[in-house]
Amino acid sequence: MARKDSILKMRQLLLKRRDALRKALDGDLSLLKEFGNQTSGDVVDFALDSVQDEISSQLAEVESRELASIENALERMRKGRYGLCEHCGAKIPMARLNALPYATLCIECQREAERQSESGGTSADWSKVFDETAESDLTSINDLEIDVS
Ligand SMILES: [Zn+2]
Repeated sequence: MARKDSILKMRQLLLKRRDALRKALDGDLSLLKEFGNQTSGDVVDFALDSVQDEISSQLAEVESRELASIENALERMRKGRYGLCEHCGAKIPMARLNALPYATLCIECQREAERQSESGGTSADWSKVFDETAESDLTSINDLEIDVS
């Protein structure tokens, strides 16, 4: 299969996954609203609600994060940069993309990044970088929705 076809196929998978995640996130939000309406003032119920809210919001956070990764990948596809290493511009092998659809680095640059985070002991900084990326992706989702629909 040509690389372009593989990426188009990947795009269909990502779009489906994105719809599923959006529905799940909508469900979480409506659940949270229900909890809010049911608040009776009872301390035990309130504690249970807090736990449920906590679980829901943690799930929502994981789903939001994946949603941001998908949006990022789709955006890269739109710009024709999907599957190209963000660091060195090399083509990322299709096998790697199939295993890691959101990969933005080729194996060499990924290894280099991991080596740097290990030697510098800056693994916390790396996750921070990821968080900031995810958040800036989220802010652009609303703009992207207009394009897609
Ligand atoms: Zn690279």
